[in-house]
Amino acid sequence: MARQWESVIGLEVHLQLKTGTKVWCGCSADYDNSPTNTHTCPICLGHPGALPKLNKKVVECAVKAALALNCKINNVSGFDRKNYFYPDTPKNYQITQFEKPYCEKGFLDVKLNSGREFTVGITRIQIEEDAGKSIHAGSESLINFNRASMPLLEIISEPDLRSSEEAYEYLNLLKSTIKYTGISDVSMELGSLRCDANISVMEKGSKVFGTRVEVKNLNSFKAVARAIDYEIGRQIEAIENGGTIDQETRLWDDDAQVTRIMRSKEDAMDYRYFAEPDLPKLVIKDEEIERVKGLMPESKSAKLKRFIETYALPEYDANILTDEIELADYFERVVKVTDNAKLSSNWIMTEVLRELKESGRSIEESKINSEDLGKIINLIQKEIISSKIAKELFTIKLNDDRDPEVIVKEEGMIQVVDLGEIEGIVDQVLNENPKMVEDFKNSDEGRKPRVLKGLIGQVMKLSKGKANPKIVTELMESKLK
Ligand SMILES: [Zn+2]
Repeated sequence: MARQWESVIGLEVHLQLKTGTKVWCGCSADYDNSPTNTHTCPICLGHPGALPKLNKKVVECAVKAALALNCKINNVSGFDRKNYFYPDTPKNYQITQFEKPYCEKGFLDVKLNSGREFTVGITRIQIEEDAGKSIHAGSESLINFNRASMPLLEIISEPDLRSSEEAYEYLNLLKSTIKYTGISDVSMELGSLRCDANISVMEKGSKVFGTRVEVKNLNSFKAVARAIDYEIGRQIEAIENGGTIDQETRLWDDDAQVTRIMRSKEDAMDYRYFAEPDLPKLVIKDEEIERVKGLMPESKSAKLKRFIETYALPEYDANILTDEIELADYFERVVKVTDNAKLSSNWIMTEVLRELKESGRSIEESKINSEDLGKIINLIQKEIISSKIAKELFTIKLNDDRDPEVIVKEEGMIQVVDLGEIEGIVDQVLNENPKMVEDFKNSDEGRKPRVLKGLIGQVMKLSKGKANPKIVTELMESKLK
């Protein structure tokens, strides 16, 4: 019998915090479009004698993350130096939390698409600083220190994940949970979220984990999943062929879809951690934790509950709408305009989400803002246009700057409610389709609605979808009697 394998995965996630200024100095953290090396000072450049001072906003963000991830916050923790030489680290050490992190022992409950639920433990979260950026251009290497000493949180999970699917869903949940707190953009594209994976395999049922391999250079959640699958396959194959797994760090090559060795255990650095002498202990009092609790924005689960209760939405709708905070906000803005939660939800879950999927845009980049969607829905509610025309209007609006109400007027999309005008079209259809009329009269009650629908369809077609369907149906029914 073939040997059965089980994989063990733990993830380390780095988040860049939105704190206005850097972690130890007053340099602006908003450096994205700034010239290189302009957001720097003696502190973040590590000049001798320059002393770091902890940014209070960083602590507030860190506490928010701890609360969102159900962690136990340590009232007293400290900072340590992780010593290593790398050109983008001006001090030749990174200030991090090694001995004791500010919080630990948290968890996230993850639900898979299949409905299966599992819990992922959060071992610890530590506050630390980012490095600068090396830019390799031909034979030259340049360094930009704008990112040096940007505040980071490192979130380390327990090795509780057993597959790439579990890792993928955990990352998605972690991302949306953090996004709800507003402390980070959590964008892998922008570099404000980074992830490394620790992967090992063991025989099914074993209690002893195999040797783990760390995989870096993962630039999307999909890449994380693919790298995990690749590593599991590589490690099983190596062991089944009589080999062993070395504890090493590997890099994911997204073009070749393989991992390659970066450094072996022998090359592993000895960081010689020691307590940071330039910073006092980090003290987070219970009052401070209570204060931050009061600042926490509504959580995802609270919002879900509120959407079901306040808007009388089905759980299915509420789940989709609260998946991302931006979508939840968009929904609430649309409802403010329409005062009709279910109709607004229907439009967002069908037309809006389909359009976003097709265009690859996020809700914030949507071509139809909440105000415009609200206006389109109101045109249906006021019976100025039919739902069918509203979908056409939605499509036109994607590439049209005019107001939806103006488009409807200028493109002649307004619904026909004039009784005489509709009656004329109904009569025309009845005259031109004697066979269908005959069919209707000879049909039993079971078949009649189908024939009626066919005749109404003809009227709608002739009116180019503009005849009011309610009036058409009433007229058609009374004329056929
Ligand atoms: Zn600075």
